[in-house]
Amino acid sequence: MPAPLKLLACVAAAWILLFCSGPPARAQEPGEKLCGDCSTTGKLPHPHRESVLEQERDVIYCSYWMDRDPDALSMDWVVCANCLTPSVKARAQEEFDREFGKRKQWLTDRRTIVDKVTRTECQHVETEHFVLAWDIPEIKVGRKIYRLHEAMHLYAERAEAAYARIQQLFDITDQDMLLSGKVHLYMLETQRAAAALSPTVTDLHIQGSWHTYKIGPNHEHCVAWDNPEKVLNDEYRHQFFVHALSHHVFNQVHQGDYTIWIFKRYGWMYEGLAFHLESLMFGIPRLTCGQETGHTTSFRNKKWESLVKKAVMSGDYPPFQEVITYSVDALGDEERRLSWSYVDYLLYLDPRKMPKLLSLMKGPQLPTRDCLKEAYGITMGEFVDGWKQFVLEKYSLRPDKGPIQR
Ligand SMILES: [Zn+2]
Ligand SMILES: [Zn+2]
Ligand SMILES: [Zn+2]
Repeated sequence: MPAPLKLLACVAAAWILLFCSGPPARAQEPGEKLCGDCSTTGKLPHPHRESVLEQERDVIYCSYWMDRDPDALSMDWVVCANCLTPSVKARAQEEFDREFGKRKQWLTDRRTIVDKVTRTECQHVETEHFVLAWDIPEIKVGRKIYRLHEAMHLYAERAEAAYARIQQLFDITDQDMLLSGKVHLYMLETQRAAAALSPTVTDLHIQGSWHTYKIGPNHEHCVAWDNPEKVLNDEYRHQFFVHALSHHVFNQVHQGDYTIWIFKRYGWMYEGLAFHLESLMFGIPRLTCGQETGHTTSFRNKKWESLVKKAVMSGDYPPFQEVITYSVDALGDEERRLSWSYVDYLLYLDPRKMPKLLSLMKGPQLPTRDCLKEAYGITMGEFVDGWKQFVLEKYSLRPDKGPIQR
């Protein structure tokens, strides 16, 4: 287009924009007054204390403050009560009612699904990836006492931190996760409350177990209680909590078609991943999800690294081909340590290949041999030789206490 014509076209376009799009939309209807109280927005701030805002910063809903704020259920604005602009007020009222209704429903659901069943006074909190119910009246963390509401927030933060740690482990984001709803965690004080709730949300009876869970798309539920035999202090509680919720988060790490979680068919991977996270965050793994079958005598507080290295040096241990055939229930002490070590090696080789490996197990459920070949490009023989070499080179016979960094 010649330059003068171009200029003409621009002027025409500007004219059309100027005269045909009309004046900017007004908030109020013609003839309505403006409202000084709310600057004609229909909304007034509903301020909360600085300390409350800090505590609730990364939280979507928290029952504690909703209960204490029945008129606004912890929203940060309310409708301008004496508004001079009726149409603006009506729109604000509609928005308020919608959000208020959502919150009310959330609160009612939490109370119906949990409190009515446990017959305890729980507090509830929802974050980006978790919905947590909590009725443990107080916990001691170091020297500090956390009361119920504070303790619940601490654990909600810890849940999100573990979630972030898992994504960091594989170098992935929410895009690489099954977006199938949030993980529901129920941390209860008594076995009685856990036993009452467990069948209704996980379809399982808790019996003598510390926790029960149900894992799959759209139903991630984990019920746990503060068993004094296991939860010796908050460090244990935190570690158990991370182990248990990690199964749900590892389940969500997935690409492609999802068929089933790996509890039965790939027991070594199922527990190996959770143990690995424990060892990264805390040190020696201390929890197992399999039935307590009497295999756990030498399970706790032994340095896994040195035990695996000793086994490899002596040549006296069950072979990989055998360990990978066990479901979680069938893993004994030694197989658990080996499972942890296999996962340790795979993540040492390349953590970014792990989501693909997991997806092959959860989707088409290929034999481990094919999963290794497709995701990592190695044969079973190469895996076993590489793993042995890794153990002999990287593991110490006298490892340090505390989190393991490789
Ligand atoms: Zn709160
Ligand atoms: Zn107003
Ligand atoms: Zn487990």
